[in-house]
Formats: sequence, structure tokens, C-alpha cells
Amino acid sequence: MSNVILPSVRMAVSSSNSFLSTSLLKPSFSHFPLKRLVSIPTCLYDSNNNDKKKLSTATPACAIATDSSQSHTQTATFSLNDGTQIDKTEKLVLPTNQSSQNLLRIRHTCAHVMAMAVQKLYPDAKVTIGPWIDSGFYYDFDIEPLTDKDLKRIKKEMDRIIARNLPLIREEVSRDEAQRRIMAINEPYKIEILESIKEDHITIYHIGNEWWDLCAGPHVESTGNINRKAVELESVAGAYWRGDEKKPMLQRIYGTAWENEEQLKAYLHFKEEARRRDHRRLGQDLDLFSIQDEAGGGLVFWHPKGAIVRHIIEDSWKKIHIERGYNLLYTPHVAKADLWKISGHLDFYRENMFDQMNIEDELYQLRPMNCPYHILVYKRKLNSYRDFPIRVAELGTVYRYELSGSLHGLFRVRGFTQDDAHIFCLEDQIKDEISGVLDLTEEILLQFGFSKYEVNLSTRPEKAVGGDDIWEKATSALKDALDDKGWSYQLDEGGGAFYGPKIDLKIEDALGRKWQCSTIQAISKLKKICRI
Ligand SMILES: [Zn+2]
Ligand SMILES: [Zn+2]
Repeated sequence: MSNVILPSVRMAVSSSNSFLSTSLLKPSFSHFPLKRLVSIPTCLYDSNNNDKKKLSTATPACAIATDSSQSHTQTATFSLNDGTQIDKTEKLVLPTNQSSQNLLRIRHTCAHVMAMAVQKLYPDAKVTIGPWIDSGFYYDFDIEPLTDKDLKRIKKEMDRIIARNLPLIREEVSRDEAQRRIMAINEPYKIEILESIKEDHITIYHIGNEWWDLCAGPHVESTGNINRKAVELESVAGAYWRGDEKKPMLQRIYGTAWENEEQLKAYLHFKEEARRRDHRRLGQDLDLFSIQDEAGGGLVFWHPKGAIVRHIIEDSWKKIHIERGYNLLYTPHVAKADLWKISGHLDFYRENMFDQMNIEDELYQLRPMNCPYHILVYKRKLNSYRDFPIRVAELGTVYRYELSGSLHGLFRVRGFTQDDAHIFCLEDQIKDEISGVLDLTEEILLQFGFSKYEVNLSTRPEKAVGGDDIWEKATSALKDALDDKGWSYQLDEGGGAFYGPKIDLKIEDALGRKWQCSTIQAISKLKKICRI
């Protein structure tokens, strides 16, 4: 390290973007990670990612700097949450469970009404749990496999229960009494649920005096408060009790429920639009890419048409980066395990990494991130003050272990190419560099038609490395750059990584859903933290 002449305070600015095509949209509302095909400059760090806690406690910074594609944790999942416009002509903003207590009550009650209907039609069915979800509700039953025809019957029975306007009556009973009543109706899953309830008093809700469920509420006052024309049963699928494959396979019925018919129609329209844009469907229809069983899940094959699209994107990416003073890099896909030990990845990121391979008695590792490589390139020679800023960028292919069950199209994969850039600069260059990255990010996103962004600035957390003054300087540099850019942003106080503040950018797609895309971080004291 002694051969590196460093400015007294060095900052590495890192940023990262995703190239997204408008086809990367999903029809259903399940939670859904965004994983990039090709990302643009730098390192991403997603504030919503679960890895954050793990990483933010102790990881050497370069591990985090590299953390780019955590961006896959897309935030938008179901961004009707914040008032998505469903259709440009209709301008109807759908309510959410958060924005409408009434809607939440309707959905919760629907789950019970459905369970009651199922047990009326199939007296042997055993009930389990039935929560509300972003677009409605579901309920899991221990019952013979159901068909779409069954769903129609069940919906009809629900309609009858709704039409009878039965009251929902709350009753509080002792644990013993609850247990006695559950035994009397022979509901083994309810016994398990009862055991997991900690409170002394158990709340029961009756629908009329014909059916009851363990539940803490809230519900509508009577079934007549549900508009049967705003409720639809959508699908049925197998689901293990408690999500455990060693436990019984249940039948999960999904339903959607809204306050009125108009909302249901808007939702169904949205769902259809999302289905039309599903990238997996488009990838197949347009013969762009595939994932092949023979090769393994999460490993993408780009077909000729997809490859030419990618070539055009990569070409454009290179051209823009060269124009903006970046040096392009190509670095290896594997490295000695020792490098990943030093960078901190083996300590803090191992569960996301492929197993090591032994080559001539040395352990090697497929790379999950690019950062350590960029730092190796940076520190290969003496740098003087005049050399800064030094900008390096790579379309770096990385490999990450993901559970096979979580793989999904191009959104969650085991191998992907991200753009990753690192800028090494002097303290008084931070603001200009950040401004440059913001401009570059916008320029690239606009090429894909993404013009609406949600910007977050995350500041110093309680546990942090580096003195107050450098945090202050880095944070105000980020703020100044955002102000100059004219982008409004939300401040996430204390939400930064422990090694530096960051800007996160979400993009909005054609259906108004938001997706975590780019992250720009300022990292100080790289040398101390990275030790490489
Ligand atoms: Zn990086
Ligand atoms: Zn309930």
C-alpha cells in the first residue's frame, strides 16, 4: 500500500444503474425482485434489502461498495400502494390496505366469508389461516385439490352469505374455552394457531351464529358491507402448512376484493396490462432469451435477437462512458478465495456466493461483485493528486447463489451482468463527480424512456466509520448535487451504510410501479477498510 500516494482524504464515489427494458414487468402482485440485465455505472445498495442489516453492521466497505446488484430487491412490487394511476385515461387511483381502513376490513372479512362458504360446500375441509394481502386475501384449506369450477361454486356461496347481511360478532374467551370449542369442531390447525397466540384472552369472530374463526380483526360490521360485485376469486394453488414442505399440502385460494365494482375493474385492467408486459412472456414470444433446464436455473441464454439488442445497449453504454471520461475495464470472473476474504465478502456475503473450487490446491471463487477488482486496478500504480478523479467502469458479469425457488425470469437469476463504476476522487471533487453520475444516470435511463424517478438520500447511521466532518462533507456534496440537478428527494436519516451516505433512485414503469434501480454512494477511507 505504501506505493500509493493518496490525497489526505480520498473518496470513492460509486454508482450503479440498471438497464431495464419496458418489458420487465410482472402481471401478478407477488413480491418481486428486480435483477438487472445490464447495469450501468457502479454499485448499488438497496435500502430495502434484507442483506442490509447484515452488511451494515460490520462489512468492510469494499464488500458493500461492490454490492451493486442488491438492487434486485425491487421496491415497487405493488406500487398501487402509493396511488398508482391504473389507466391514463381513467385516472382512477386505487386505494390500498394502508390508505383505506375500510378496504382492509373488507378484505379481512372476505377471507372468513370464503372459509365459511368452503366449509358449507365441503364439510370435511379444515381451515387454517387467511390473511389480507396487497390485492385482496387468501385462505389455506386442508381439502382435496380444487378446480376453477370449484372456485365458481365457492364464490356463489360467498355471494349468498354476503346477501344475508350476517353480522360479525366479536367474542372474547379464555384459552381453555377456545380450546374446548376448537376440539368440539375438530379443527387441528386451529389448535396449532391457538398455541401460537400469546395473549390470555382469545378473540373469536362469529359470522351470524353459524360459523366462527379465531381472529383479532378488524372486520366490517356485517357481510352486507361487502360488495359482491367487487370481489373475485382469482386462483387456487398448493401451499404447505407453515410453508414447510414436510407438512401437509394445503389448497390456497386467492381472492381480490375492492370497495366497489369500478375499483375491481381497474385492478383487473391493471393485471391484464401487466400480464401483457411480462418479460418472460415477451422473451419467449420475441425469441429474445431463455433459461434452460439442461444448463440450470437462473442462467440466461441470449438468443440472436436478444443478443443484438444487448449488443446495441452495451455499445451505447461504452460510448457514453468513454465520452464521460471513464476508463473501461474487463476483469476475471473468478479469483482466489483469499481476495474475497480480504474484501470481507466471505465473512459477510458468503450465503450469496457459489461454492469454492479447488485449483492446484488453491481455492478459487466465482465473483459475486466487481468492487475488489476495481480497487486492485486502482492500486496497481502510484497516483498523484493530478490523476484524480479516476473513473473506472465495467459491465461485470457476476454470479450469486439464489435459492432455486426464488429464481424468476430475468428478475432473479444466478448469473448476470451489471454495470459497475467506481470513481476515486479528492474530497473537493465529490460534488462534481456526483453531479456527473446523476447526469449520466439520467441520460441512460431516458434512453429507455424512464423519466420519472423517486430519489432517496440516506445519511449517517448510528454506527459509522469516519469522522463527522467527512460525513458532513460527503452528505452535503450529495445534497448539493441533487439540488443542482433539481431533483426533489426524500431524506432517510440514518439510513446510509456505515461507510458512507448514498442516493437511491427508483424508476417508474409504464404502469406506475416503482423499481429500485440505481445507487450512488460516497465511500471514504477506502484504504483502511478494504485492506487490499
Ligand atoms: Zn462496485
Ligand atoms: Zn379476521
